[in-house]
Amino acid sequence: MSEQIHRLVYFSRNAMPGTEDEIVAGVRQILASSRSNNARAGVTGALLFNSGCFAQVLEGPSPAVTETFERIQWDERHSEVLVLEYAPVAARSFPDWSMSFVGADRSGQQLFGDVSVTSGFNPIHLKADQIFGTLERLVREEEKQTA
Ligand code: FAD
Repeated sequence: MSEQIHRLVYFSRNAMPGTEDEIVAGVRQILASSRSNNARAGVTGALLFNSGCFAQVLEGPSPAVTETFERIQWDERHSEVLVLEYAPVAARSFPDWSMSFVGADRSGQQLFGDVSVTSGFNPIHLKADQIFGTLERLVREEEKQTA
């Protein structure tokens, strides 16, 4: 029997100080350790960084997702970590990505801008579906471009 997949969606704010270049280097470092840790743990997902905010989708067997998130939520490189969804799902949405990343390009900015504007920049009003939909769309666009 295959293991039940859970999905966790959260939002947080960047807490890394420094210039834009230093912050980008910090995000790169986060991505590098995420990719090797997640590949080992059987976690897949996507990370969005834009407008000083992170949004991330983690998916995998429940123990792997919760252990990973436990580390993430204590990470001082971000703050105001707000879980928007944690639920079983039928299948992974990012099966080929130990951690896909979107954030630097303009469509990402525009889409995340839409999420931020709708929420009035208040994460309490952010909806998991909105974030998940945004990430899924951006990752699919990126997959098409690199196919
Ligand atoms: P390493 O890979 O050994 O750490 C690499 C380097 O990162 C360290 O040398 C240090 O310079 C720096 N570093 C590590 N932890 C911290 C910290 N708390 N504060 C400041 N610098 C630090 N981890 C995952 O495994 N999967 C994820 O999907 C994931 N997503 C993340 C998303 C965000 C927005 C953030 C902020 C962090 C994320 N992390 C993720 C990182 C996670 O919080 C832990 O730092 C990481 O899992 C620790 O892995 P490691 O022990 O292999 O550290």
